Amino acid sequence: MRRKLAAGNWKMNGLAADLDQIDALEAAHSAVDIDILICPPAPLLERMAARASKIAVGGQDCHASVSGAHTGDTAAAMLVDAGASHVILGHSERRTDHKETNDDVRAKARAAFDAGLIAIICVGETLAEREAANTLDIISGQLAGSIPDAANGTNLVVAYEPVWAIGTGLVPSTDQIGEVHDYIRAKLEARFGEGVGRSVRLLYGGSVKGSNAADIFAVSNVDGALVGGASLTTDAFSPIITALAAS
Ligand code: PEP
Repeated sequence: MRRKLAAGNWKMNGLAADLDQIDALEAAHSAVDIDILICPPAPLLERMAARASKIAVGGQDCHASVSGAHTGDTAAAMLVDAGASHVILGHSERRTDHKETNDDVRAKARAAFDAGLIAIICVGETLAEREAANTLDIISGQLAGSIPDAANGTNLVVAYEPVWAIGTGLVPSTDQIGEVHDYIRAKLEARFGEGVGRSVRLLYGGSVKGSNAADIFAVSNVDGALVGGASLTTDAFSPIITALAAS
């Protein structure tokens, strides 16, 4: 049985005053039996973790090394030390802005596992790749290259995030989401065995809102969402959490 997960990615948004959102979210969803996660910018992590009780807190990236001369980077153990339980890895914005490769993501995921973090590894095709009918090949390569052999249903979550759907208001059809999620499930089962493959949670991400959440959560092999823009306010994130809890 996979626990549902509503994960918010605040990206480079949020100051101390925005931590009030945590109180409001906790009050609104104290009784829901799903996992809720917020990944704030690194400077807010420790304060958010101290304030949250039901809501888990995660990083948005980590370095592959445990320590050293890497100015501006954060080691996985530092995220844990600040109160994080999860880390997003291989988000398309990092793959693009920081030229992160599948090898980079896999090394970071190994570091995350070693530190005891749950890694949310993001995969997804660009619009050009979808239009060239290469979506499943791209996903296959990203899964094979980004996920370490030590992955299992406890330390890994996979987020399918079509690059063209992130922050654009464009959303794939439910058939398109289902095709990719079923494919990811089959790939995980083939690589890790049926038991492990079936236990890994699969999130959809890309312009999820209260208005489309219920339809997306009804798709097979969608165990939750990774939400960017709509996770920034309680008003926008709450209906998504409610829809997931009801799915
Ligand atoms: C994201 O950045 O992971 C994301 C899904 O963003 P948005 O929900 O804003 O499309």
